[in-house]
Amino acid sequence: MGALDAVKLAIVRRRLLANRIPKDSIYPLETWMAIKACVTAKNERELKDIIGKKDQEEIVRNDIDEYQLFMFRKQLRNVMENTPFYRDRFNDLGIDPDRIRTMDDLNDIPFTYPSELADAPMLFMAVSRTRTAREFSTTGTTGKRKLIGYTTNDLISKIDIIASALKSIGMSGDDVLHIMFPAVSAWDPGLMLAGACKVAGYGSSTCSSPDIKEQMTIMKESGATHIIGLPSFIYRVTALMGSETDLRSLKIGKIISTSEPLSESMRTKLQNAWGCNVLDVWGMTEFGLACAIECDERNGLHTDEANLLYEIIDPDTGKRVPDGKMGELVLTGLTAEGTPLIRYRTRDIAAMTAPPCGCGSKFNRKLVKPAGRMDMQFKVGMGYKIFPLLFDEALFEDENVIDYQLIITKEGFKDVLTFEVESKDRSDAARSRIVNSVSKIMEIGDGIKDDLIETPRVVFKEIGSMEYSAKAKKIVDLRENFDL
Ligand SMILES: [Zn+2]
Repeated sequence: MGALDAVKLAIVRRRLLANRIPKDSIYPLETWMAIKACVTAKNERELKDIIGKKDQEEIVRNDIDEYQLFMFRKQLRNVMENTPFYRDRFNDLGIDPDRIRTMDDLNDIPFTYPSELADAPMLFMAVSRTRTAREFSTTGTTGKRKLIGYTTNDLISKIDIIASALKSIGMSGDDVLHIMFPAVSAWDPGLMLAGACKVAGYGSSTCSSPDIKEQMTIMKESGATHIIGLPSFIYRVTALMGSETDLRSLKIGKIISTSEPLSESMRTKLQNAWGCNVLDVWGMTEFGLACAIECDERNGLHTDEANLLYEIIDPDTGKRVPDGKMGELVLTGLTAEGTPLIRYRTRDIAAMTAPPCGCGSKFNRKLVKPAGRMDMQFKVGMGYKIFPLLFDEALFEDENVIDYQLIITKEGFKDVLTFEVESKDRSDAARSRIVNSVSKIMEIGDGIKDDLIETPRVVFKEIGSMEYSAKAKKIVDLRENFDL
């Protein structure tokens, strides 16, 4: 590392609130949010008048609400001044940021749709491109790519939350995070993770090879204590290496599953094989990926309420719904400088749950795991909508299954679901078990009963013969005139 890098690292370290979390914090991620609210109140008179001169331990839910409303007003002023998109739209509508005083007032602010961002990403940039430290584009499976600008402050604040989250999962001192992302394309999550480890003082090892043996070798050599990566890939490593290596002997503290939905059947198997908890992370590129993470309770993801405002709305009426109710997740970037997005329709189905949490956190609202991305749902048999995750649940229930791909075709009026399955057990009995398990998915079962879907077919593949592909390519739809 050069001298300049060392200076930069020292500056970033000093600015990280993650490094101010006391050692005895019960849930470091929440403490970090309280610290951020207090630091902001110190510098912002308006907020100080509302929440007073509290210490981080004194922060309660209502203070966080007030902090978020304050940051929302501030962000509204910023986008109305600095982004062409919101300047035009909100001024035309006569939006007055100062009138946003309660969460219900948010209903008056129009949504931002992903298609609007995809059509003209530059209209959403609040800083000149020279002030943009990095640009990322989304890797979505549908539509145009959305370009997101990040300033240095945006990157630091992401590193800050990642470092706090790593503390929350129990990383400390000499721990090493093994970062496992094979075949990463548009943006490299490993880069940000390795950076967060560095400033937080942890070790990291990154391996982007799809080669299972290489992953294991690097993991062992680096002395990894924690693992983060795509669940489908970690699962592959587990299933293929489990017979050669006693994975429990590696004494991994936690496994973090990210970038793909984690099915419960897969979680259970990973936990049994490695002897540690597997925690889910949720995020989207528009908001810097690391947006929410599970604690050991594993019944919802703690949210980053310092940087993001989470709302759940009824997708039909567009109105906010109370905590506990399912709906579409709508996010606002409260601190984003590069591409600040206001009330962005994520298309994800979720609910927020009220605090407290069994882990000891007091005020942080949790996100109940999205059942799936709305536009990732697909239809079979005349309109039964299915989340791809349901197939994961059904297939990985069988412990011999290592990977699979679903190919959907049409024969006459009927949809044909062919599962190519890489499995250790390729017997007829195994085939029947998979067919049964898939047919138990309500939408598939109903489709078969109504004669709109053929009985699912299973084609077995030899171990190691299927090329690893991320979830987005798990389902190949070959139907013509397929109606989304
Ligand atoms: Zn918790």
